[in-house]
Amino acid sequence: MSNGATHIAASGLGVLAFTVTQEYLENGEVSWKPLALAGLAAKTAKLPDILEPALHPNHRQFFHSLGFAGLVGYGMYELYKWETEDDLEKVLRLAGLAIGGSYLIHLFCDSTTPKGLPVLGNL
Ligand SMILES: [Zn+2]
Repeated sequence: MSNGATHIAASGLGVLAFTVTQEYLENGEVSWKPLALAGLAAKTAKLPDILEPALHPNHRQFFHSLGFAGLVGYGMYELYKWETEDDLEKVLRLAGLAIGGSYLIHLFCDSTTPKGLPVLGNL
């Protein structure tokens, strides 16, 4: 099942688990940041369905495609490598990673349904 509640829970918990693990491995302790990032991920969990609303059974097109997932993944890779120089850049980097992670979790949840995801959709 892949509905709005599933997307919110999966995105929030997925980003929370990843950020807690990453921060603990990096610093040996966990701050408030994973909770804030999980909240942001939960808030943006339905972004693909905002871009392509589920108005009919074949609503999944480019923004729900494997190709777009690859673009999001590449963008996240570039964000991850970004060597930030001030606090604002650090916040933007973490926010972008949380939103990207939320987007990919949404697509993963959708991919487990019988309709799956298109390679690129109808361009
Ligand atoms: Zn969707």
